[in-house]
Amino acid sequence: MFCGIFAAMLLYFVYFNVFESSDVINSPYNRRQDTFAERVVRGEIRSSDGDILAQTDVASDGTETRVYPYGEIFAHVVGYESEGKSGIESLANFSLLTSHAFFTEKVVNELQEQKNIGDNVYTSLNTTLQTVAYEALGSYDGAVVVLEPSTGKILAMVSKPGFDPNTLSEDWDELISSQNGELLNRATQGQYPPGSVFKIVTALEYYRQNGSFDGFSYDCEGSITHDGYTISCYNGTVHGAEDFRTAFAKSCNAAFASMGLILDRASFTETCESLLFNTDLPISFPYNKSKFSLDDSTEDTVAMMTAMGQGETTVSPMHIAMITAAVANGGVLMNPYVIERVESYTGTVVENYSPSSYGKLMSAQEAEALTGLMEAVVSEGTGRALNGASYTVAGKTGTAEFSSDKSQSHAWFTGFSNIESPDIVVTVIVEEEGSGSEYAVPIAKKIFDAYYGL
Ligand SMILES: [Zn+2]
Repeated sequence: MFCGIFAAMLLYFVYFNVFESSDVINSPYNRRQDTFAERVVRGEIRSSDGDILAQTDVASDGTETRVYPYGEIFAHVVGYESEGKSGIESLANFSLLTSHAFFTEKVVNELQEQKNIGDNVYTSLNTTLQTVAYEALGSYDGAVVVLEPSTGKILAMVSKPGFDPNTLSEDWDELISSQNGELLNRATQGQYPPGSVFKIVTALEYYRQNGSFDGFSYDCEGSITHDGYTISCYNGTVHGAEDFRTAFAKSCNAAFASMGLILDRASFTETCESLLFNTDLPISFPYNKSKFSLDDSTEDTVAMMTAMGQGETTVSPMHIAMITAAVANGGVLMNPYVIERVESYTGTVVENYSPSSYGKLMSAQEAEALTGLMEAVVSEGTGRALNGASYTVAGKTGTAEFSSDKSQSHAWFTGFSNIESPDIVVTVIVEEEGSGSEYAVPIAKKIFDAYYGL
């Protein structure tokens, strides 16, 4: 019996080391991390092209300082490791505090009571795109997400307002008592009304219920009134006779509100849930779930609002980027990821991460139909500022009202470039400024231009 217990312990020990140790050691609740930090100098976090995004400087007296050369630019995505951990500093904590230096070197270090040098983490982040996105947002609050739809690689993720991770400890008290949410990663944790970018979802639902966009026609008089409640088109514009493509391209609120009255609500909810509303998202950063609710008890006026992206629906910029990526990628969502590989400090590859598929959010035919609508937004609709570049773009703008008197709105854009073989998805939200075409499209254009070296 004694031998049996011993064997079981041994088995568990092996199992723990192989399968569970990284999770346990990575857990922010585990105090053993501090013990690791006593033996290993925390590794570097680098961009895809090797730029250092975080490193530990060691002074001659052994004092360590975590340095973030890009300051605020990568603050939310790279994160911090003092005052708790966030971002990649948290996701990759185990790798950063593990050393795969040569065995003999480690033995010598142990004997001399010197620290080993931790592994370096290479990310998919692109310094140019991140910097351009950060600068393009300027003094506005909001967020930008750039994804590669064919792989799920996160190329850029910006949130504003931000903080300087280099002075986090000094600024901590001020940051946690601030009302501006500087520490919040708006790209994944922000929950916004989607406004007209949601018309992508409503269009998909219309397509699913009708099998095509062909049978649709609407005569827009600049507003629609139902049960004494009036919904207007942006600036009261009268869009006149429209087919589905025109209604989508011009972002006609009246046409989409009218769909809210006829679309089957249970089916609409099912489609939203298939697009990961009210559901967990496959991302490793902390996030908030997007919300969608519509059933037989929903009032008609709310159903009208819901179909045009107002109502109770909320969504994060990352989630909108993921839906756009699925459209770009023939309906298949690739799991977003940011850590590409781990190397020892001498450059030996320790671990490689490959793209993985989450699954189909829609059929290839549905994705193609939506792409056609999104092309029209750029060729003849609210995204015309992106037309005529040396690359092609399919996208959707949005102007999401959020104050009860409708006086204030968030500006949205989401889209992808190189329609035939999509390169990148760009999703932008600018808080409290105005329309998507005026505020979000120019930011997206700067990012597309930078990607193509323009
Ligand atoms: Zn209209």
